Amino acid sequence: MWQVEKMIKRVRVLAIVVCLSLVLSPGIAQAEGELRVLGSSAEAGFPSELDFSLSAESDVSITDIRLHYTVDQAGFAEVTSEVFIEFEPAATVEVEWSWDMRKTGGLPPGSTVEYWWTVQDADGKRVETAPVQVQFDDNRYSWRSLTGGKVTMYWYEGSESFAEEIMLTVEEALARLVEDTGAYLVKPVRIYIYENPRDLRGAMVYPQEWTGGVAFTRHGVIAIGIAPSNLSWGKRAITHELTHLVIHQMTLNPYNDLPTWLDEGLAMHSEGPLGSQFKNYLNRAIAEDSLISVQSLASPFSAYAEQSYLSYAQSYSIVEFMISNYGRDRMLELLNTFREGSSYDGALNKVYGFDMDGLDELWREHVIQQYQGAEAGTADSSLWAGILVVVT
Ligand SMILES: [Zn+2]
Repeated sequence: MWQVEKMIKRVRVLAIVVCLSLVLSPGIAQAEGELRVLGSSAEAGFPSELDFSLSAESDVSITDIRLHYTVDQAGFAEVTSEVFIEFEPAATVEVEWSWDMRKTGGLPPGSTVEYWWTVQDADGKRVETAPVQVQFDDNRYSWRSLTGGKVTMYWYEGSESFAEEIMLTVEEALARLVEDTGAYLVKPVRIYIYENPRDLRGAMVYPQEWTGGVAFTRHGVIAIGIAPSNLSWGKRAITHELTHLVIHQMTLNPYNDLPTWLDEGLAMHSEGPLGSQFKNYLNRAIAEDSLISVQSLASPFSAYAEQSYLSYAQSYSIVEFMISNYGRDRMLELLNTFREGSSYDGALNKVYGFDMDGLDELWREHVIQQYQGAEAGTADSSLWAGILVVVT
């Protein structure tokens, strides 16, 4: 499907080149007066706008101007947006249009937007400009970069060794992920390290006050705020977000997404052993018989802090149970089955021979036994230096 779409696009680009050379070559169009594009530009106002402008002239009124653009991201079909520009018809026109991302949602730093125009006059003459790419970069900082395998990291504060330490964490996380689940990075990933959450929030339209990191799974981008003094939190957070990217790359399909418990459980599992505060949440829920069902955890987690922490803790525990009891190959098979667009119960049934209710039953038995006799500690509600967000 994607291949076909891509090919269609190639053909279209070729067609444009042919068209343009016909229209622009001297002697062909001039005789009857021509429709000409005088200038075209795009200026990025990161993170909230992208301003396009065009000027054109003809010997009769220009009546129709459209802007077309696409954003580089992993999709199933190439999505082209088309904007009808409002203007007063005239022989010479200058138009502007601003893509206001406060209305549409933002793009991650480093995105590439490709755009072109189609212009038409009252005589029906038509020009389509060649596609041009514009970079949507966060130019507030002087970024340095470091590349290892498919991962390129950008940072502006802290030494080389700070960056190298994070890169090492990335490599270890990817190696562990292959070992535990068989999942691996399919496409390149870019990681932007901001010095702190405040700088990160300056890169987002409408940031939430508590945002500490964002994974843009379709774009293959992680943006995160890590001060050199907060490195240990940062390493865990990067490992977590990177896992989301890998899992989404492995399972991307147009039909179905992943159950949240699997997506978050794998991300938590990559981070290493469960923290004691999360364990306390689990322990208390077992004691109070208030564990959340696997079925409920398939939907987005509760916005309430306590329920949300328990959801993460349970997701970790469910994934841990699946990997340690049934092994890595089945987990990989499960991910591959999800890539085919399978339903949640369908995928589990095919690979493990039980559905989500069956998993719920087996896992409860396991976790209750595992936590038997554990001291019930106090649950702390300030677990993270910042909440991690996933944008799909
Ligand atoms: Zn997560």
